[in-house]
Amino acid sequence: ATPTAIMVGVGKGAENNILIKDAESLELAHRVNAIILDKTGTITEGKPAVTKLVWSAAARNKALSEQILLAMESRSEHPLADAVVNHLKKEHVGKVPLTSFDSITGQGVRAVSDGVTYFIGNKKLMSEGGVAIGDELVTLAEKWQQEAQTVIYFADKTQVLAIIAIADRVKATSKQAIEKLQKMGIAVYMLTGDNKQTAAAVAEQIGLQHYKAEVMPSDKADFVKQLQAEGKIVAMVGDGINDSHALAQADVSIAMGKGSDIAMDVAKMTLITSDLNMIPKALNLSARTVKTIR
Ligand code: ADP
Ligand code: MG
Repeated sequence: ATPTAIMVGVGKGAENNILIKDAESLELAHRVNAIILDKTGTITEGKPAVTKLVWSAAARNKALSEQILLAMESRSEHPLADAVVNHLKKEHVGKVPLTSFDSITGQGVRAVSDGVTYFIGNKKLMSEGGVAIGDELVTLAEKWQQEAQTVIYFADKTQVLAIIAIADRVKATSKQAIEKLQKMGIAVYMLTGDNKQTAAAVAEQIGLQHYKAEVMPSDKADFVKQLQAEGKIVAMVGDGINDSHALAQADVSIAMGKGSDIAMDVAKMTLITSDLNMIPKALNLSARTVKTIR
């Protein structure tokens, strides 16, 4: 493309939250026929969030129970606790005072409020405390675990009051964006360092057949090379330090704007918003830029 066309393309990109660092990647992007997406932070939000909170019949005063749950998790430093706090704050739940609070290593937390002892934590915490989990809740917990979600329990000394599912959610726009790319004839792959079950659950949610789990950072770059050896023009999209090798190896490298500085340093393009629909937009911009000189 002519220097003028490139300048216009880069400017159009900036207007649309696509920052392009070098002309070459703008000229090449429309020829991309394989795209590798990192999972955490690229396809997903990148941080754990509550997806479900189900109260059991044992929780007679739900409003009070919510306040105790919030008070306890506010005292905890665990990332799962953060997810619960964020969720309850969105619902404008208030806190009640706790008379004691302590954590139980590897299992969860315990507190006393108004003379009653409460627990929050995993299944082991429940079984060791002699808290019965009703059949209905067991079934629910198993279902959520199969969906690769983390399950935690909120209980008093005898019964489960609530069960909570926590997951790193898929961004609302990811599925649609991936479909768009596939319709453009591009092979889309997901790579993740995460375990197989989580990867499979996410892949299913977004309708992706090609994915690899338990991938080391250097393996991500090797996978780029492998596709290049098959003659593919490869775009890598990632947000983390662990994506930087693969970004450097790819023909077109795209960082997500909310990601690590290293990813943005290495990548030739940065998407300021975290919406994957920006990827087909960037490829189309490239196509239009190149066409203006033909
Ligand atoms: P890890 O850092 O590997 O999660 P921890 O000892 O901090 O190990 O916690 C082990 C488990 O105990 C967690 O995976 C979770 O199931 C449960 N847990 C710990 N703290 C909390 C909390 N504040 N709220 C809910 N569950 C918790
Ligand atoms: Mg810990």
